[in-house]
Amino acid sequence: MATIKTDGFNDPFDQLLPSPETAIQTKRVNSRSGKITKINNLTYDTIEVTITCDKNTPPFNANAGQYATLKVDGIARPRAYSFAKAPALEKQNQITLFIRLVEGGELSDWFKQKKRSRAPVTVSGPMGKFGLDNSDDTIVCVAGGSGMSAIKALVEQACHQSLARDCLFFYGARTQADLYCLEEMEAIKQQWHPDHSFAFIPVLSEEPDDCDWQGPKGLVTEYLKTHYLDTNQLDINHIKAFFCGPPPMIDHGVKVLQDAGLVEQSIRYDKFEDVRSPAPVIDNQKCTLCDECLLVKPVENCIVELSDFSHSRQTGMTNAKNIVPGQTSGLYYNTLFINNDQCIRCYACVDACPHKAISPKNKAAPSMLRQR
Ligand SMILES: Cc1cc2nc3c(=O)[nH]c(=O)nc-3n(C[C@H](O)[C@H](O)[C@H](O)COP(=O)(O)OP(=O)(O)OC[C@H]3O[C@@H](n4cnc5c(N)ncnc54)[C@H](O)[C@@H]3O)c2cc1C
Ligand code: SF4
Ligand code: SF4
Repeated sequence: MATIKTDGFNDPFDQLLPSPETAIQTKRVNSRSGKITKINNLTYDTIEVTITCDKNTPPFNANAGQYATLKVDGIARPRAYSFAKAPALEKQNQITLFIRLVEGGELSDWFKQKKRSRAPVTVSGPMGKFGLDNSDDTIVCVAGGSGMSAIKALVEQACHQSLARDCLFFYGARTQADLYCLEEMEAIKQQWHPDHSFAFIPVLSEEPDDCDWQGPKGLVTEYLKTHYLDTNQLDINHIKAFFCGPPPMIDHGVKVLQDAGLVEQSIRYDKFEDVRSPAPVIDNQKCTLCDECLLVKPVENCIVELSDFSHSRQTGMTNAKNIVPGQTSGLYYNTLFINNDQCIRCYACVDACPHKAISPKNKAAPSMLRQR
């Protein structure tokens, strides 16, 4: 008998805005097997990983800004990674990811342990609704750390399509040693639409005072505020903002833009959540049992299908039968439950649910639930 625990939830997502995206619909998630075919060191802690999927697998048909999950042998659950190249520029059946190797991370350690070129992997995607809008407003991008991946794909896509828009790309890093893709950014600047401008603005937060860095210093979102918003360098009524990277950077960036008067419909973001973030919760009052979330989930047991509830006064426990498709014939689930311990915080289910029944803002379900 398994016990599922749902942690208490103190609603840290209060500031989170709904995604304004309507143009990109969630697509069915396909899993493909493939191999790692190349690993490049981008910095001391960030690698570029090229994955080539098996021949005859369907193309990804991804949009710049979307992500996939990566599953490797020996690690139980996959991890989510944004496409780091505009899909139009990828070779068929190939994808490129930028992965920051974090201290103590399971997949990070897997990459550090030995050379993983030619290692078999499973890639599932595309997922997510982050992407460029169709307006002709100035594109203001803000990325931090490995958030470079999705924003690089966005600006590459805009350049490839020769979009007639100006673009400012603010990139937050700690030191000069954390900077990468500088040549790619220069190439995009050279190839940008001739009547419009592209500027890449790296801002360093931990570069020492006596260094040779001539560029901006400080927090990237603070720099955007003091040098572009407070000084009216940007026409707030004609910009669209795109954020990608660590959640605290995005929360601060969204706040400074909103304080400057940018409406929430003009802000999009892709937060790189990890196991430290809260798992979403399903509101079963809103759920119509449509199965959409089950079609996109990247982990087998992250969403558990349950029926046959009974409550024991003696133990105070709620029991339920776990419905396993193909094994529990004749039974269909009537309640869904997200298992915190299996959830990788990819929020694919949140994006997929047509009834807004899944959110990290929902109250946690029963504190203890036992599956039979
Ligand atoms: C939609 C989406 C897109 C993403 N895209 C990218 C991407 O393009 N590139 C990328 O590098 N990552 C990306 N991530 C994050 C990625 O999915 C993993 O969470 C990350 O690579 C850590 O995996 P891990 O297995 O090494 O660490 P885990 O084993 O999952 O974590 C183990 C420990 O490491 C700590 N930890 C985890 N992440 C961090 C961190 N960032 N900083 C400090 N400590 C941490 C945790 O506290 C935990 O204790 C994305 C996440 C999401 C949800
Ligand atoms: S429960 Fe939702 S957020 Fe968690 S791993 Fe599954 S699909 Fe992703
Ligand atoms: S997608 Fe939403 S409505 Fe459909 S089964 Fe999942 S939670 Fe229920």
